[in-house]
Formats: sequence, C-alpha cells, structure tokens
Amino acid sequence: MTILPVIPISPDQPDTLQSGAVSKRSRPKMPPRHLADLDLAGRKSAMAALGEPSFRAKQISTHYFGRLVRDAAAMTDLPAATRDRLAADLLPTLLTPIREQACDDGATRKTLWRLHDGALVESVLMGYPDRITACVSSQAGCGMACPFCATGQQGLTRNLSVAEIVDQVVYLAGVAASGKVTGSPPRLSRVVFMGMGEPLANYPRVIEAVRRLTTPAPEGLGLSQRHITVSTVGLVPAMRRLIAEQLSVTLALSLHAPDDDLRDELVPVNQRWKVAEVLDAAFEYVAQTGRRVSIEYALIRDVNDQPWRADLLGRLLSGKLAHVNLIPLNPTPGSKWDASPKPVEREFVRRLREAGVSTTVRDTRGQEIDGACGQLAAGELTEASAGGAAADAEVAQ
Ligand code: SF4
Repeated sequence: MTILPVIPISPDQPDTLQSGAVSKRSRPKMPPRHLADLDLAGRKSAMAALGEPSFRAKQISTHYFGRLVRDAAAMTDLPAATRDRLAADLLPTLLTPIREQACDDGATRKTLWRLHDGALVESVLMGYPDRITACVSSQAGCGMACPFCATGQQGLTRNLSVAEIVDQVVYLAGVAASGKVTGSPPRLSRVVFMGMGEPLANYPRVIEAVRRLTTPAPEGLGLSQRHITVSTVGLVPAMRRLIAEQLSVTLALSLHAPDDDLRDELVPVNQRWKVAEVLDAAFEYVAQTGRRVSIEYALIRDVNDQPWRADLLGRLLSGKLAHVNLIPLNPTPGSKWDASPKPVEREFVRRLREAGVSTTVRDTRGQEIDGACGQLAAGELTEASAGGAAADAEVAQ
C-alpha cells in the first residue's frame, strides 16, 4: 500500500482544516444562526433584539427541545407575526432531507441531508429493544483521508455548525417519538458522533453540541452525558482538551491497527501522533473520567486481521479499562477493501479475550441501505458527478 501524505491538521484551530490541502475550496459559508447555536441566555438576548419578551426564549426552547418541534409555523401558541420573525431569525431550515431509507425491518433508518450550501451529510437512527441511538455527522466530508472510508475519499467540505449537529439529533428524536422505529422504546436515549467527519477536528462546535444535547430541557435536550459517545482517530492535543472539559462522555478511539507501520497507512494522522501516544491520551481520559474507552477496529481482510496483530493489540490493552469494538468492514462495490472472513474474525476475538480484553463485534446495521458513514452521501455525489471517483469501502469510524 502507498503511504499517504500527512494531512495538515491544527486541532487547536480546527477551521484551518477547511482551507487545508484536502479542500481546495475557499472558506466555506457557515449556515445562518439557529436557536440551537445559542444557550438560553443567548436566546433571551436574541429575543430582546427581535423586540420580543424574554419569556419567549423559554417558550420556543420548550417547543424545540421539549416537544421536538422544529418548524416555527407549528408553534401555534405564538402570535403569527412572532412565528414569522422566529422562522426568519432563529429557526431557519438547516437540514433538507433528500433521501430517507429504512431497513432491518424498520429498526434502522438513514437520512441524507442537503445543507444550505448544497453539502451532503447523513444521520442514522438505530433501534434496539431497550434503546434508540442516533449516529450523527460532525463535518461535511472528512479531511482525515482513511483510505478504506467513503467519507475519507471525499475530502473535507466544511465543519458543521453547532445547530446543524443538534438539529440532526432533534429530528431523529422526533422520528423516535413518532414510534416509527420498530421494536424500540419511543425515546432517543443515545448519540454517537460516528457519522461523517472527525469530531475532534471540529472541536469547539462538537463540545458545544454535546452541552446542548445534555443540558436539561428546555435549554437543551436533557440526554445523559454517559449516553454520548465522541469518536476520534487520535488527534492527541484535542483529546487532551477533552480531558480538561471534565465531561463524562464515552471516548471511542478509532485505532484500526496496533502497529505504526500499518496505522500510518490506514489512519494517516498516525504519521503525526503514533499508536503509543494516542493510547496514552486515551488512558489519561480513562483515568480522568473513570469511563471505559472504546477501541474501534475495522477488521479488513488480509490487512489488519492477522493473529499476531490480535496478540499485539491484546498486549497493548491488557489490564486497561478498554473495550474493543470490532467492525466488520462494510465494502462498497468495486472496492479492494473487504471484510475479514468469519473464522478469521472469530480467531481475532478469541485472542483478544484470551488476553483479558473485553471484545465484541459490532452488528452491521443498514448494509442494504449503504449503512455506514459517508456511503449514502458518496453514492449521491457519484450519481451527481457521473463518473466521479467512486468510494472505496466504508466503515463508521
Ligand atoms: S474513517 Fe472517520 S476519520 Fe477516517 S476518513 Fe472516514 S470519517 Fe474520516
């Protein structure tokens, strides 16, 4: 495999990614302000600027976060003129659904969104007997260039705003509340930042979105921090910032290889922050929060699925508060990347468990609807650009 170039990354100044080598576009235009961009104090100030009484801030917050009403026209207890002002100034349409698909007998639902500037992102709702989880995007595209990932092949278009992230969740919470997710309770309880993008490359907005999702209603959605998972490929300075936030979200580290030789290729950011350094930061997070770190590992046939790599991973994680989540690769047509055969997968699991490392294999939701990060959007882009580069293979990071 070819060694990919190191991508210029400034996690402390995430916006520099927007104009970095991956994206040749000029600085992207962020969406208009939305009430989910603001905390309650900010919403009160916005009301004052609109000439509205400050109690309206709580009123519209109750509609949006408490009742999951995203359209000002449906807030019928407000005067008509107020609804019009709100629609224009605080509730602009951020996400327009252009494709919605369901599979797994209705337990998995995927939405492809068009943003105000035409960028495409996607969200997935996954129902289980005891819970419903939303998988959301934090960026349009991704600048991390993992070669097995459809999103990584698109490059980065731009960071999502706080409200673009939050609005995905509020929409999906509304779908959950409608009872459309077969066999699950009608309440969204978990959010994973494992859709398109590297969440920690959009650090301030992702953290603000986490705060909005976990602040009690009506200011926020009132989810438990412990039920939010933030993933990263290992942007070490941003991981250290996350430690300092003293949140109790779950950290998921997308490792994909236990040795630097291979990880330099599979996760190019490893050329900047090596396996040992990334794991050190993850274990610091564990020490700070007491929360078990989730190690994400996409099993790819004949690439990273050898028994010796299972043993090496086992040695790195043995005795640590870590759980390995093996992800059977979800290949796309024509891809050179493929999932490991089941016997190889079973042996990988066996060796990790023998080393005392808690290990599970992720269920592969939504394969019949291009069900992992970036695949639906990649398909749409490919169709739109007739002959554009088809995505290789895909996995939720
Ligand atoms: S696997 Fe995740 S970090 Fe890597 S390119 Fe894909 S979306 Fe980005």
